[in-house]
Amino acid sequence: MSDLPSHISLREVGPRDGLQNEAPVPTEAKVELIDALSHTGVRRIEAVSFVHPKAIPQMADADEVWRRIARNDAVRYSALVPNLRGAQRALDAGFAEIEVVVSASDTHNRKNVNRSTEESLDDIAGLIEAGHAAGSTVQVIVSTAWGCPYEGDVPVERVLAVAGRAVRDGADGLSFGDTTGMATPSRVQKLVGEFRSQHPQTPLNLHFHNTRGTGLANVLTALELGVDDFDASVGGLGGCPYAPGATGNVATEELVHMVEDMGVATGVDLEAMIDVAATAERLVGRQLPSQVLRAGPRTRRTPT
Ligand code: ZN
Repeated sequence: MSDLPSHISLREVGPRDGLQNEAPVPTEAKVELIDALSHTGVRRIEAVSFVHPKAIPQMADADEVWRRIARNDAVRYSALVPNLRGAQRALDAGFAEIEVVVSASDTHNRKNVNRSTEESLDDIAGLIEAGHAAGSTVQVIVSTAWGCPYEGDVPVERVLAVAGRAVRDGADGLSFGDTTGMATPSRVQKLVGEFRSQHPQTPLNLHFHNTRGTGLANVLTALELGVDDFDASVGGLGGCPYAPGATGNVATEELVHMVEDMGVATGVDLEAMIDVAATAERLVGRQLPSQVLRAGPRTRRTPT
């Protein structure tokens, strides 16, 4: 096995990306999920998104969720926003970490935020300034980085151009989102390799969905390339708005279970995360796709 990072940073995105793609759950269920996650050892939680409530009614209670959770000082909580207006709400609420999302595919971006990718990038330049002026970090997430449900394959050059603009405009970090699970290891290798050679100093996070079963394979490929920052959602919460019934993000406990056995530390208590996955299942009222939730960790023994 090639050299892998000795440890990685995980961002738990179940409360946001996960719940945004589930049937609406009550505010108190969101609070319960975030508070439970805050005690699993995970250091970063994407807690809410500040989007227009008409666009995504599941997130209309973002301010209330943020007020009600019992914040753990050891955890960094972040908010996802689609534009400067959303960022201002997040900053007013006191978030010190903001993620702004832009699609590499123009069609997806227009469906999402009703403007072209270039228009979003112009808005993001001002957003980065506003975030920094308020003392917040701003990560730019380039979604549909490995393909778009409308346009199909998105050329690597296009993704790199969007990412390059964000880097030049002062983003504190970049993330590539495999929004609908179209990435495969060879495609991960190509995009990450080229991004790294152009921007060796820029922190890079990867966000995989397991829509087509390649989630963990993509994580492993990225680890071998030295990537040490990943998103995942507890239980594999979430889905895909373009494919009814499809699975969501890579499951946090599956990722932890695999990489810890390879000597890559995550800081996450696996059994605690599996317990939260069971909680998440109860809160959304359906069976979640995580296989480690079903089978337990490889160290678990059946009584004889
Ligand atoms: Zn996602």
